[in-house]
Amino acid sequence: MTDARPAAERVGALEILASEANVCTRCRLSETRTNVVFGSGNPDADVMFVGEGPGQQEDEQGLPFVGRSGQLLEQLLGEIGLTRGDVYIANVVKCRPPKNRDPRPDEIDACKGYLRTQLELIQPMVAVTLGNFASKLLLRTDKGITRLRGNAYEWWGRLLVPTFHPAAALRGSARVLDEMREDFQIIRAVIDGKLTRRPEEPANEPEGPDPDPEQLDLFN
Ligand code: URA
Repeated sequence: MTDARPAAERVGALEILASEANVCTRCRLSETRTNVVFGSGNPDADVMFVGEGPGQQEDEQGLPFVGRSGQLLEQLLGEIGLTRGDVYIANVVKCRPPKNRDPRPDEIDACKGYLRTQLELIQPMVAVTLGNFASKLLLRTDKGITRLRGNAYEWWGRLLVPTFHPAAALRGSARVLDEMREDFQIIRAVIDGKLTRRPEEPANEPEGPDPDPEQLDLFN
């Protein structure tokens, strides 16, 4: 999952991909969106965040994480010495699901090529999945975020740090926020080169419940 072209060429390719996404009609979400929310930030970032899908404010502005969740994300970034402009932020689906329902498997399937190419072009040192949805999709697991978080996983030649969605901290307990802070320290450690090799991708439990039959895989 690498693209050997120089950074300037990869940035150009990302812009072309964004213009393609902006007129995308691959799934029904295109019928109800106001704007495509392709992603924003530093195209040469060390850290790339992946959320679930745009909400109302993101749909109106065409930018990811501009609501209250985005404010909390910026606060947590600030606590590890980063700004929004240092990182790249994208979502699993680029168009808002009506009434903020979960994206459906066929919508994720139609959209996942954009996210995969974003990851290939940006080549972050660390991908950070926000919440259950993105974490399960990228790590190909049915384990929940509470069990996944607190680790950095080897993932397609880089590290992946799963953490809670900021919305969970906004409506949840102080513990969720504290655990997000711990996870952001893991991100900081990866950027500082203090954490380079961690557990492999989490396998599904051999004796656990059947994996969700609708579970999707970003790279298949
Ligand atoms: N929640 C998400 O998952 N993504 C956004 O862009 C905003 C809220």
